[in-house]
Amino acid sequence: MRKIAAQYLFTAVDKPIKKGIVCLNDEGIITEVIDNQGFLNEEENLEFYNGILIPQFVNAHCHLELSYMKGNIPQKTGLPQFLNSVASLRERNIFTEKEKIEAAKNAEIQIRNEGIIALGDISNSTLTLEIKKSQNLFFHTFVEVYDLWKKPFLEVFENGIEILNEFQKNSLSASLSPHAAYSCSPNLLKKTSQFSNHISLHLQESENENFMFQHFNGSFVKFLTEINSNFEFFEKKDTSANYIFPFFDKKTKILFVHNIFTSQNDVEKLKNHFESLFWVLCPNSNLYIEDKLPDVRMFRNLNQKICLGTDSLASNLQISILSELKTLSQHFPEISFAEMLSWATINGAEALNFHEKIGSIEKSKKSGILLIENFDFQKMKLTNESKLKIIA
Ligand SMILES: [Zn+2]
Repeated sequence: MRKIAAQYLFTAVDKPIKKGIVCLNDEGIITEVIDNQGFLNEEENLEFYNGILIPQFVNAHCHLELSYMKGNIPQKTGLPQFLNSVASLRERNIFTEKEKIEAAKNAEIQIRNEGIIALGDISNSTLTLEIKKSQNLFFHTFVEVYDLWKKPFLEVFENGIEILNEFQKNSLSASLSPHAAYSCSPNLLKKTSQFSNHISLHLQESENENFMFQHFNGSFVKFLTEINSNFEFFEKKDTSANYIFPFFDKKTKILFVHNIFTSQNDVEKLKNHFESLFWVLCPNSNLYIEDKLPDVRMFRNLNQKICLGTDSLASNLQISILSELKTLSQHFPEISFAEMLSWATINGAEALNFHEKIGSIEKSKKSGILLIENFDFQKMKLTNESKLKIIA
């Protein structure tokens, strides 16, 4: 049994508790959260830390299997050029399977050291299967499909199902998921939506994505033509969001990832359609590729559920939710730390279906506890020097 306290306890679901105490049993399960109204008596066995206590983080969007690309993709080129670089790195085949697995393993260790307890991970293969079998983290794998690279959609779908079965056979949480509006044909979207009710989809990461659906022109179309894609069966739409949503049942649990060029109109439409909708923001990756952030204020004004992700090491220098929070805190100083923390924990846990077990400091959960040092207590904000320690 441990009793742990600090200057403030942030539960992720309630107001911060001044000098709050969290009690854990020998298995690390939270047995009690104590609010003494800011007073703390000297107690035997009480561990007191200088900083704030928070639950461990949830990273709602990552691609572990791309970890080997770290440092190999130029920054701030825009999405079409980024995708080109990723594709050409894949084609050049300079990394062996063993090296790729090794890179993913190292990334997973870093992820744990960054106080991340759960990962929403995109997989195009079974490369990460052995890592996930270790169950060091709560993993939900989105097995990703796309068919614009002139592959027959049924072949793509069946290949996806095979990969999905491998994960599920090993009792791992997984679902089939389309990659993005610009890379999935109507046939593939129809087939996937009939099969899966838990989806993660890259949305409006580039301005050209909307432009493509409006005009069938622009740098995205140029890129897709160059890689010999087939997209002539698309109908014109005013935005890519309008292309996507009619394929899915309103009960589908859906995570839209990036959303840099998502407008208020798009959000209104999607929130009226989907009952379980999450907006995953990956700010550091957005700055890496597009050098632009999503309209965070608009999502907040519309009371949307926001989650945080890092994307892969192909478009991020590290896989750290704390670093994503620092970036957001710099760009949006008006947003409280408590609110952002819910994006980094409980919202992601809910998006990945792990919220009964983790994501907040509440009785019966085994959320893990982090200490954040160098916190600015005057502004109640993170600083550039804020760092984390894993306490439980
Ligand atoms: Zn991604």
